[in-house]
Amino acid sequence: MKLYNLKDKNEIVNFSQAVKLGLGKKQGLFFPTELPILNKETLKKLLKMDFINRSSKILSILIGDEIKEEFLFKFVKKSFSFPIPKLKKVKKNISCLELFHGPTLAFKDFGARFMAQILSHLNKNEITTILTATSGDTGAAVAHAFYKIKNIRVIILYPKGKISKYQEKLFCTLGKNITTIAIDGTFDECQSLVKEAFNDCELRKITGLNSANSINVSRLLAQICYFFEAYSLIPEKQKKKELIISIPCGNFGNLTAGLLAKSLGLKIKSFIAATNSNDTVPRFLKTGLWNPKNTISTISNAMDISQPNNWIRVEELFKRKNWNLKKLGFGSVSEKETTSTLKELRNLGYVSEPHAAIAFNLLNKKIKKKQFGLFLGTAHPAKFKETVENILQEKINIPKSLLIRDKLPLLSNKLKLNFKKLKEFLLKK
Ligand SMILES: *Cc1c(COP(=O)(O)O)cnc(C)c1O
Repeated sequence: MKLYNLKDKNEIVNFSQAVKLGLGKKQGLFFPTELPILNKETLKKLLKMDFINRSSKILSILIGDEIKEEFLFKFVKKSFSFPIPKLKKVKKNISCLELFHGPTLAFKDFGARFMAQILSHLNKNEITTILTATSGDTGAAVAHAFYKIKNIRVIILYPKGKISKYQEKLFCTLGKNITTIAIDGTFDECQSLVKEAFNDCELRKITGLNSANSINVSRLLAQICYFFEAYSLIPEKQKKKELIISIPCGNFGNLTAGLLAKSLGLKIKSFIAATNSNDTVPRFLKTGLWNPKNTISTISNAMDISQPNNWIRVEELFKRKNWNLKKLGFGSVSEKETTSTLKELRNLGYVSEPHAAIAFNLLNKKIKKKQFGLFLGTAHPAKFKETVENILQEKINIPKSLLIRDKLPLLSNKLKLNFKKLKEFLLKK
């Protein structure tokens, strides 16, 4: 697999390099040079396979002979070691694809765990520092994915006081090779610190920096796999209808992966890019103006991002495929609507959480009779316990894995929003 840097198309790397580098020159993201299209036969065969076999096959087609298929199979088996349950029917023509049954109860487990497997495979003897910013869920997924993996240390920055109690407990209680830092600032500001660190050649070299946020191409590729699984789970009766998938977007990694699945030939009619009040993309699609505002804190905090990293990949893919960006569904959902949508879902018999509710809200508004709609369940409601219980006025079930972590003390460090301080910290550690 070859990939080029979106900011400097002369920089071409292979998959292993892209995974290790994370970002290219000028902080450019990598994008595949080839966009294979699977023929009908192959698609049909793939859709009949089980999740693990199918996923390693798809990844092997994309990555090529750089990593043997038997290795990919092993990595996939290790990383996708938790179920994707049958689609949860919410209404006659709308179901939820629940991606939150992994160790940290969010879809990010898929990408983070696959990336950990790939990195530890590529990285035999060197020391690597994973530096990543999180608005809540990435941190947990990355921390758990890399926990106790040899020669890799993980540093996670998160906006102090802007993530939920359970989110914090989930990844700030691990210790060992996992260090967490609460920063006085927003998620975007944490992300800027990470970018600055990557720009610092000295720091990059000494610490063997690597980022594990959704810009890493290994995470993106892993996420393509569950769109195929989603398709294979659609009940026969609904298969004839057009498939429309609504995605709660933050950094737009999930949407990029979905679009890549479509570009491979998976029959998805269209996507809806759903955001909360941090609506840079919906405003851009409406007006053609890219005008990020200050990030606002919402109850769907994993989507509190006003400068989404992966958007540039979405645009590139539309360009390369000659697709019309006007056909991409979009919308933003206010706090008030998110709240009432959670109640609406409850009345339909489905306990959800704010992120998925945003995706459902827009899907429910836009879906047509001849269509079947899926929205992505990106996190377990328990991760947003206080919010959900407050809104629904009822207790919700908390999975055991979370209850165990809740009893452990927080091990986080605290730092001001200051790059020099961060650099000192990283070099000292
Ligand atoms: C990360 C996250 C999102 C946003 O996903 P992107 O791929 O960054 O767009 C949505 N919902 C939840 C629960 C998340 O953790």
